[in-house]
Amino acid sequence: MSEVVVIGGGPAGLSAALICARRGLDTTIVEKRTFPVIKACGEGLMPGGVDALKRLVPQELINKMEYQKFSGIRYIAPNGECTSGYFGKGDGWGIERSELSKLLGQAAEKEPKIKILQNTVATVKGSPEQPIVHFNDQTLRPKLLIAADGLHSPIRRWAGLNGPPSKLKRWGLRQHYQITPWTNLVEVHWSKDMEAYVTPVSPNTVGVAVLSHRELISSWQKPISLKETLQIFSDLGPKLLLSEAKDQLIGIGPLHQTVKRTGTGKVVLVGDAAGYLDAITGEGISNAMEQALLMDRILEKQKEKTRLDELVIDYSNQLPALMRSYYWLTRLTLLLHRRPSLVNQVVKVFQKTPWLFNYLLDLNSARSFSEAAGLSLQIHGRSHGSELLKAIIRRSIGEIRKKS
Ligand SMILES: Cc1cc2nc3c(=O)[nH]c(=O)nc-3n(C[C@H](O)[C@H](O)[C@H](O)COP(=O)(O)OP(=O)(O)OC[C@H]3O[C@@H](n4cnc5c(N)ncnc54)[C@H](O)[C@@H]3O)c2cc1C
Repeated sequence: MSEVVVIGGGPAGLSAALICARRGLDTTIVEKRTFPVIKACGEGLMPGGVDALKRLVPQELINKMEYQKFSGIRYIAPNGECTSGYFGKGDGWGIERSELSKLLGQAAEKEPKIKILQNTVATVKGSPEQPIVHFNDQTLRPKLLIAADGLHSPIRRWAGLNGPPSKLKRWGLRQHYQITPWTNLVEVHWSKDMEAYVTPVSPNTVGVAVLSHRELISSWQKPISLKETLQIFSDLGPKLLLSEAKDQLIGIGPLHQTVKRTGTGKVVLVGDAAGYLDAITGEGISNAMEQALLMDRILEKQKEKTRLDELVIDYSNQLPALMRSYYWLTRLTLLLHRRPSLVNQVVKVFQKTPWLFNYLLDLNSARSFSEAAGLSLQIHGRSHGSELLKAIIRRSIGEIRKKS
């Protein structure tokens, strides 16, 4: 009998399953596609996510995985000016989704308490208090149902956890190109209509993800050539013209999905199913793994593993604090989209105050404001986003004045 059923075998589902199985729970993962599972993604794992991955997966499996380290982010403004920020602690990793899926899948296969079903669509009936999961000709009544079924999660809707629809509509696309990475940074090329993210993922491959308010997906179904679309970026387009696309263009959207709560009855939401704002800060996979690690901390505190309903309550109460810095920084970064002159100015500010860009990158990987407050920039006693922002702006203005 499965005590836990996980629907969705993406990074969130596999991470949550690893945690549950290691805490002694019989766990079934149901994935509708065949492993390795791919998805439209920028494929940049930030340093916080790298730490989380190392806690979830045995090192001997990581040693066999192909990835490319990156040491920071470079912004290329619409006016051609650029600036680079570097991580203070550790590297980021560019990992193709097929590699990440293989890695997490192999880790799951090693766990005797995990059963993996692929090519299997799960549906849920009953109520969140008594969920009944159906797949193939089987029916399961788990003590815990983990919905890791992605951005537009049907289980979230079924459980009545969908929040109001968002006015922010953005879509994402990705494609891989055969070309030697020209930098060990993730590049973000900004324009009025879209941003292009270039992530080195192997010694001869870069992944290009595009985010836009334009519903490029419907044009992609026609299909569009991403290479041609990217010619608006004078620094990027010509480089890609000389390279081969390695795979099909894939996309997803709209990205912003709100939730009322992330748990009810016997159901918890993890990963994109637990709500998503935007890919602009490249934190989705890290968030998914951090959510699994939050479950681990809660299960560790519980004496009786049978009290899984308490996990649902504790998890949904504690998750907002874990996600606060993601939402805050993503909202802040989203101020830049569709505002080319603001991006030009921000890049100019970062050029004059390189510490600020470095600091924001570390803040992006920090999992709490208390962790953020421990970072090298001393902003005393700040615990609220807007206060932190004001302090950062004051210090930046002070330094820019001193320099000019
Ligand atoms: C363009 C773009 C760029 C991004 N760039 C980055 C980045 O650089 N770094 C980063 O960390 N994040 C990035 N993200 C975000 C990241 O891709 C997601 O946050 C991450 O994939 C979430 O993982 P998940 O497991 O929750 O969902 P998914 O990866 O979507 O997995 C959900 C799984 O559930 C399965 N499923 C759904 N319904 C069922 C069902 N009924 N039965 C069985 N299986 C089912 C699906 O087949 C799928 O495999 C980006 C996203 C986009 C769109």
